[in-house]
Formats: sequence, C-alpha cells, structure tokens
Amino acid sequence: MTADSRAILSVAGSDPSGGAGIQADLKTFASLGVYGGAAISCLTVQNSLGIYRIQPVAPELVKEQINQVLADLPVSHIKTGMLGTPEVAEAVGECLAGFDGTVICDPVLKASDGHDLLTPAGLFVLADRIIANAAALTPNFQEFQALTGLDSRNDEDITAACAGIFSRYPRLEAIIVKGGHRREELPIVTDLLFLRDGRKVRAVKAERKRVETVNSHGTGCTFASALAAYHLKTGDWQQAFQLAGDYVGKLLRLSAARRMGHGTGPLWHHLIK
Ligand code: PLP
Repeated sequence: MTADSRAILSVAGSDPSGGAGIQADLKTFASLGVYGGAAISCLTVQNSLGIYRIQPVAPELVKEQINQVLADLPVSHIKTGMLGTPEVAEAVGECLAGFDGTVICDPVLKASDGHDLLTPAGLFVLADRIIANAAALTPNFQEFQALTGLDSRNDEDITAACAGIFSRYPRLEAIIVKGGHRREELPIVTDLLFLRDGRKVRAVKAERKRVETVNSHGTGCTFASALAAYHLKTGDWQQAFQLAGDYVGKLLRLSAARRMGHGTGPLWHHLIK
C-alpha cells in the first residue's frame, strides 16, 4: 500500500482552542499530506491561558470510536496522546492489543499550567497497556523521569534507563526523549533517539538552535504526530526522528512572530508550504 492509501488514527484529548491534542494532531497530518482520523479520549475546556475543566469520555465510547474506525479505514498507525484516566487508558489498551499496525505512544502526563492530563493512577495502566503495545515512545524529559524514576540529566544514565525500558517492553523499537525541557538554560536543544541494537542500545542525537517563542503549546503533540506521519512515509525511525524534529523546528520559527490568544500560543501549522 502507498503512503496515500493509509491512515493514522490519533487517540487524544480535544483542545477547543486548536493548539494541542487532536486538533494539533489533525493539522499536522494534513500539513504532511497524510490522512488522519481522531478518536476523542477527553474533552478539555481550555484556551491559551490554561485548562479550566476536563471531562473524560466514557471508556466504552472511546473503544467504540476506535473499533469502528479500525473496522473501516486502512489505519497503519495509531498515535496516542492524552488519555485522562486509568479507565480510558485501559479501554484504549484493549483496542491496541488487537491492532497489528504501528503504535506511537506520546505519554502525556501534565499540561504546562500544571494540570494532570493523566491521573497518577493512570501511569501504571499507561505503562502496562499502552507502552506495552507501542513501537515508539516519545516522552519529554519530565515524562521520561516519571516513567523511569531517573534523576540525572546525564546522557549515559539516560541511555541506561532506555535499556531498562527496552528490556521491559519487547515490542518497543524506538524511544525519543525530547530535549526542549532538558537543559532549558542552553541555546541548543538536543533530542535523543534510542534504538534497539541487538542486546544493546544505539543512541542518535539531533541538535538544533533553540527558538525563542511564546508559541509552544502543542509542540509535543505535533512532534509525535509528525513522527507517526514520517514513519508511515519512510518506514524508518531514524529518518522519521530527523524529519519530525526539522518539521517542528520550522513550525516554531514560522510561528514565533505571530500572536493567537493571550497566553502560550499555538503553532501555525497552516503556514507550512
Ligand atoms: N493533549 C491535550 C488535549 C492537551 O490539552 C495538552 C496540553 O495542554 C497536551 C496534550 C500536551 O500538550 P504538549 O503538546 O504541549 O505537550
């Protein structure tokens, strides 16, 4: 099947201001020329200033959305984002267990205003039911710390922690630790890709100049969606990692001078030519 005839299904929360969640995911897929569907896990009430309320969707309803899309569309990739509660995560995990395509898990835990986007009890279900079925995992540094308990920011310790994750999850092929929040004092952002290499772990680095901007809302969702889209197109994690990082870097630069809302603004996916 060609890239044109396949689809990605995003399972994530809705952000009515269009900056993050499924709205950011669908904009990313469209701007990269990939067909995207979306099953909504939670409704959030939010704008660029923060999150005011979260209403999880009934777990059965989340499952039905996913299953009816999978029964009809040629979905090769599922990307998971905000899941909200352990019950929703459990329901999504049941769908993933029967899916034979590629799962990208963006382990969304907290919004930048501090709101929990997955309740603490949900972390265990995320690990057991979602990461266990995923081929790629895309934590930011705080999420990586929550998943591994790691305190250090040192590359060797991060690599060793990734070896531990690979040994726990045999289906996992790639871990990407996003660099935006790792060393915020540095002018260079280093994203790290870890791949299985026999019984070892191979690390690949991508360094880019930090873009000074207030428009960073939805950057993580956009990165994971771009990774899914480029993996659908290339079938290769290393290429997808480079291309998704370049795409987010370009979007951050294109969006930096724009203003949308009064707080942390979104990326302007529609500016990508
Ligand atoms: N998903 C939803 C629905 C959100 O509201 C947020 C943040 O507010 C996120 C995901 C995570 O956003 P980011 O891409 O900025 O990590």
